[in-house]
Amino acid sequence: MLEMLIIGGGIHGVHLAHCLRQQTHLTHDDIRILDPHIELLHEWRRCARNCGMKYLRSSSVHHIDIHPFSLRRYAALPEIRKDTNFIAPKNRPSVELFDAHCRMVVDDHQLESLHIKGRALELHNNVEYVSVVTAEETINARFVLLALGMSEQPLWPTWATRLREMGVSVDHVFDPGFRLDGLRADGPVGVIGGGISGGHLSLKVTEQLNAEVLLISRKEVYVSNFDFAPGWIGPRYTEGFYRSPIEQRRQQIVAARAKGSVPGDMKLALDKAAARHQLTCITDDITDAKCQNGSALLTGRQGRYECQRIVLATGFVEKRPDGGFVNQAVKEFKLKTAACGFPVITPSLQWHDRIFVTGPLSELQIGPVARNIVGARHSSSRITAALKK
Ligand SMILES: Cc1cc2nc3c(=O)[nH]c(=O)nc-3n(C[C@H](O)[C@H](O)[C@H](O)COP(=O)(O)OP(=O)(O)OC[C@H]3O[C@@H](n4cnc5c(N)ncnc54)[C@H](O)[C@@H]3O)c2cc1C
Repeated sequence: MLEMLIIGGGIHGVHLAHCLRQQTHLTHDDIRILDPHIELLHEWRRCARNCGMKYLRSSSVHHIDIHPFSLRRYAALPEIRKDTNFIAPKNRPSVELFDAHCRMVVDDHQLESLHIKGRALELHNNVEYVSVVTAEETINARFVLLALGMSEQPLWPTWATRLREMGVSVDHVFDPGFRLDGLRADGPVGVIGGGISGGHLSLKVTEQLNAEVLLISRKEVYVSNFDFAPGWIGPRYTEGFYRSPIEQRRQQIVAARAKGSVPGDMKLALDKAAARHQLTCITDDITDAKCQNGSALLTGRQGRYECQRIVLATGFVEKRPDGGFVNQAVKEFKLKTAACGFPVITPSLQWHDRIFVTGPLSELQIGPVARNIVGARHSSSRITAALKK
């Protein structure tokens, strides 16, 4: 029987596996990562590629290895060193560098050999251990760690679903089938959503196609260099958060996340593309759409917009990630949830004696940074400490 089965092989699952292996008594044979994709970190790479992202938003100390300066040291190797490895502020790494570093960590520590390709379908409580049912087998483990991200739940506005049914080309940038390289248009491309994914996507489309981009967002595109104020990474803001009752924490998380914002360098690039007439930023809330000669006619509160094709950068559905089995597990293990549906967990991120969580599922303990790479680093220190006891 395994000691720990990690469900989800994204940034969180892989970082946690690495930390559990290096920082606790668990051996290579004690840990496995269950994930349905061909390789670990598949969803991270897919999402970054789909929106044409070139640099991360987070700083160089946020990565999947253990030592905070591991990425900086790696970038200093003669064969890796490049002027384009980092950009300001806070040395944000290029996607190319970050991914190469991920591969180095995965290869050096043989993490891919922990990967079981499959999807958890059900969790069963056997008191002394948990049985995880997949289509192929049942895996028993003394503990499970749920490391499910948001990547499987792209948000589709109702009008967009209807428009697609009418035969217009509508995609979501995070749909598994979407390929940015395959995007073709000779009329205006409507990018919906003014956050960082919408920004990356719009810039990539202006580079790639000879078509105008209409970047339509509810709020005017605004600058925030990070997803949250840096005070949320350390005790400055989190001390107050930890003292707040669970019911008030969701509100604090929503207020703290700079949703729909872009870093300063991206705002500059968008302004330049607008000055070259390649892009128009429109602040409007699209409420309806219809098909007109195969193109889309979008209706907002402020006006109407004609686009040959639409790409949604509307983010993810803001609900508890389910992974296809969490609802069942909540019933089976009688797991406690808050009014927002997210887990009520201990400070050690335990949802149950045998179930740990990280990523969005740990939000009510870790705070607004929980979904990010730094959230994985916070989770690992709490979970490894709990397992050492
Ligand atoms: C485009 C983009 C850019 C981002 N940039 C940054 C950044 O610069 N800095 C930063 O800190 N954060 C960033 N983030 C946020 C966050 O760090 C990433 O989304 C990160 O990939 C989240 O990792 P994860 O492991 O939580 O989730 P995921 O990458 O979604 O991995 C979860 C895995 O679990 C699997 N899974 C789901 N259900 C099951 C099941 N039933 N059984 C088995 N496996 C299952 C999924 O298939 C997936 O492979 C970014 C996010 C996006 C979308």
